[in-house]
Amino acid sequence: MENYTIIPAPYTVGPEAYAKVPEYSRLYGTRAVVIGGKKAMAAAREKLERAVAGSEIEIVDFVWYGTECTRAAAARLEALDSVRQADMIFAVGGGKAVDTCKLVSLDLKKPYLSFPTIASNCAASSALSIVYNEDGSFSEFVFFLECAKHVFIDTDIIARAPYRYMWAGIGDTYAKFYEVKISSQGEDLEHFKALGVNLSRMCMETLVRYGAQALSDNKAGRATYELEQAVLAIIITTGWVSMLVSREYSIDYNGGLGHAFYYGLCTLPGFEENHLHGVVVGFGVLVMLLVDGQDDECRRLMEFNRTVGLPTSLSELEVTLEQVRQCAEAVVTGEDMEHYPYKVTVDMLMDAVAKLDV
Ligand SMILES: [Zn+2]
Repeated sequence: MENYTIIPAPYTVGPEAYAKVPEYSRLYGTRAVVIGGKKAMAAAREKLERAVAGSEIEIVDFVWYGTECTRAAAARLEALDSVRQADMIFAVGGGKAVDTCKLVSLDLKKPYLSFPTIASNCAASSALSIVYNEDGSFSEFVFFLECAKHVFIDTDIIARAPYRYMWAGIGDTYAKFYEVKISSQGEDLEHFKALGVNLSRMCMETLVRYGAQALSDNKAGRATYELEQAVLAIIITTGWVSMLVSREYSIDYNGGLGHAFYYGLCTLPGFEENHLHGVVVGFGVLVMLLVDGQDDECRRLMEFNRTVGLPTSLSELEVTLEQVRQCAEAVVTGEDMEHYPYKVTVDMLMDAVAKLDV
């Protein structure tokens, strides 16, 4: 039997979550460098500075990460004195900023703590970094053995962020349940995989229950109970599931036809620039359910999508059947389809997509 350790990222959530920063970051030293997106740092800076004032934690610098999570962006950060001299990294922002910090953390062997300022994905708590090439195209997934040492979720900051991030986050998050469920079909699940598969149900159920209210609270800038539940589903539940079912432990249930659909369509010129990841992935899940013969569940999810304004037809997604056909091969052979219970053919995909061509 092999020995292994599972450590999901601990978190603090609430409208004053940063108040706990000194208590939980002092375990890793005293000097912190903040690395993040420009808007994210602007949204978080004052609260962060107030949180560490008078404590032993010193913020040595606020550094802009760049615009993409690339190896070059990480190398540029790793060359900075303020980064090299810091004991730990405070990763502030959305997915790309946090993912860049993970690369720096891995290269420089410094711990990172994350501060998501939008609720669009689980980057803040997952043990994975999605790395792009300089031209913006996808490069590689980099997997980590460790997640963030702590995730600080200030719901007040997130409630004031543009709502389209949470809107897309909802699609990406319910995808975790449907993709994990299908990818793990018929497999013998040992403890941590079973934890992940069972937990994944909350990625969908929490959003079906609170998603619509959370979105309207986000539009109004209100940090309500419902918003907090949705934010935790998007940032924490999904990140924990992702880590528990990760390929780091040899079998990967992350990803599936929903994500493969998105990455396949990204081969269309201009598609990625005009579509949010989670919105397309959420639509891809509808396709995946139809391919899997789950027509009733697809209808149920379409009902939900209508309550939050996520697309239920190709026309709402602004693509044609012909355009999907052009990408069909890329979809069914995508990296996300590597661990799937059966082979999905171009014909199976196109039959399903045709049902959503209204
Ligand atoms: Zn995703």
